[in-house]
Amino acid sequence: MQRKLFRDAKVLSLRTGRYAQEMDVLVENGTIAAIGRNLECADAEVVECEGRYMTPSLIDAHVHMICEEMGLQCIVCGVTAVRHLSGGEGVLRYARDIRAGRRAGPYIYSSGPIVDGAGARYKSPSHVYIDGPEQAAQAVRDTVEAGYLWAKAYPSMTPEEMESFLQEAKRLNIRVSGHLSYYADPKALADLGYACCEHSSSLPKNDEDIDYLADSGMWFCPTQLVCETLPDYVWKEKPLSEAAGYEYLSEASRKYWEERNKKIIAEYKERNLKPDINVIIARGRRFMDRSDRYMAGSDAMYPGVVAGFGLHAELRKLVDLYGLAPLDALRAATMKPAECMGLSACKGQIAPGMDADLLLLERDPLEDISNLLSIHMVIQGERVYGRRQLDRMLDELKDPRREFEVFEPTFLF
Ligand SMILES: [Zn+2]
Repeated sequence: MQRKLFRDAKVLSLRTGRYAQEMDVLVENGTIAAIGRNLECADAEVVECEGRYMTPSLIDAHVHMICEEMGLQCIVCGVTAVRHLSGGEGVLRYARDIRAGRRAGPYIYSSGPIVDGAGARYKSPSHVYIDGPEQAAQAVRDTVEAGYLWAKAYPSMTPEEMESFLQEAKRLNIRVSGHLSYYADPKALADLGYACCEHSSSLPKNDEDIDYLADSGMWFCPTQLVCETLPDYVWKEKPLSEAAGYEYLSEASRKYWEERNKKIIAEYKERNLKPDINVIIARGRRFMDRSDRYMAGSDAMYPGVVAGFGLHAELRKLVDLYGLAPLDALRAATMKPAECMGLSACKGQIAPGMDADLLLLERDPLEDISNLLSIHMVIQGERVYGRRQLDRMLDELKDPRREFEVFEPTFLF
């Protein structure tokens, strides 16, 4: 049995928002076994925390793990689990390797492949396109059979296809996340059990519909950072090199961003889509004022969003633009995504019996959410990354010659 005793930490309770001082945390085989003062355990390896702040490590509630370097970017930023929203064979293999300790990266909880209607304006080779209600239901059955945790729906399905998709999902007990629908009434989707709305920009335009979704128990992931890429990178021509964490992006990823961004700019200019970002924020805020079922997601690796670093930028925006207290922002990146994914019994808080997914911080994140970056140690079950190792990983990420595996077929043009 592997035992580690983390001695003398300020341990945060996310329920109360208070720290318990001078606490010891005993971890056995990657699970928290005990928390208390002056714990004794003769055969444990002792890790001195010297009064540092201990919080749960972070969960990014919206990512696309399209290449292996994203795993390292997550770990160096304290992100030890992700909700992945575009399933595929490669990422499932990667998830298994991480779980088995063969590669470094966050635990990956994945949706099925993105499913959209045959009438979608722009098509991707990695998406599944369906034509008619029967094919919609079949796409849900395929998602379940492949072992994914939820189904991902894009908004170009017809109302009949959407209804069939949601009914089959209900019958098979799998939840549906996505961008709601261009054509179906959002209230009808909520009534059919639509589980999570991704992006503030996907919320309905009128307040009454937003209230209805919030009251229905639907989850919501604002991904403000990616909503801002449209005004910033498309219309204001902001350089992608200004994205947080850009220096830790490989040459191949930078090239992927540039190429993909060209297509995005062409598409949005053709549609003349110029949303008012303040209106989008107001919609998200309205939902979050009414429901506490929201979570923090970055949408890495959409051009302009680096894995790990993007989540910290998103948390900053949730505090500055959406008016969250730092404690609520931290909850949105820990216990909330765990709850949304049905993992509350093992992830997102610090308690005996929970997975030891933890951060040790130099400064208090409840004072300033940016202090979540003052990382002294990242603990992911049995794996412990100290500051020196994290710095080595950052150096590795800065090496332009490094090579890594790519999981997304559209990555290289
Ligand atoms: Zn996304």
